[in-house]
Amino acid sequence: MARKSISTEVEKSVLIASRRRCCICFGLNRDIGIKPGQIAHLDKDSSNSKLENLVFLCFDHHDAFDSKSSQSKNLTKKEVKFLKGELLTQVQIALGKPVPFGKMAVGDIDPISGHYVRTSGSTESAEIVITLLPEGLESVSRYYISGVAFFGLTREFGPNMGELSKVVELADSNRITWNDGNHKLAIDISDDGLEVVEEAIEMPVHGLDVSFSGNYRKK
Ligand SMILES: [Zn+2]
Repeated sequence: MARKSISTEVEKSVLIASRRRCCICFGLNRDIGIKPGQIAHLDKDSSNSKLENLVFLCFDHHDAFDSKSSQSKNLTKKEVKFLKGELLTQVQIALGKPVPFGKMAVGDIDPISGHYVRTSGSTESAEIVITLLPEGLESVSRYYISGVAFFGLTREFGPNMGELSKVVELADSNRITWNDGNHKLAIDISDDGLEVVEEAIEMPVHGLDVSFSGNYRKK
């Protein structure tokens, strides 16, 4: 497989979105320290340097993720992808808070970015975080969308969980859509929050009962 180098723009996006925190350190130990590390490929295909496929990992966890050792249960792609979404969500929440400079405050600059919590819908709990990514050469607005939804919080064997983790471009000024073949999602953005419609095309997206559809309010 030919190694395709990661463009400096994509590299910048990965480093800034993670703020050089390792999502496995965070996900397993709640370690939010800045780490020396590297950009890893989730699918282990070094020619696939799309933003969705890249993740910043500390050296130890990069080794652990790439290792083919059968001694221990290896970290799976799905697991690391989820932890990446979790870290980026928490970074956005932490860094999205206004920073007071005396009387000045630097708050949300981008009106769409933010942490949204569902107020109505079929599943019991859902949250979506939208993060504006640093502008690339094309000067299109690209967002990282991450989210978690739960259904059946009181079930004996635990709830079903759904997750979103996606880089999207803004279709127009207040709509984000994507369709990846078996999964269709539309997010309408207004001053009141989000209206999300999710459809499964081929099969249930996140397990039988979990859907992100519903209305969301900014937290
Ligand atoms: Zn780590």
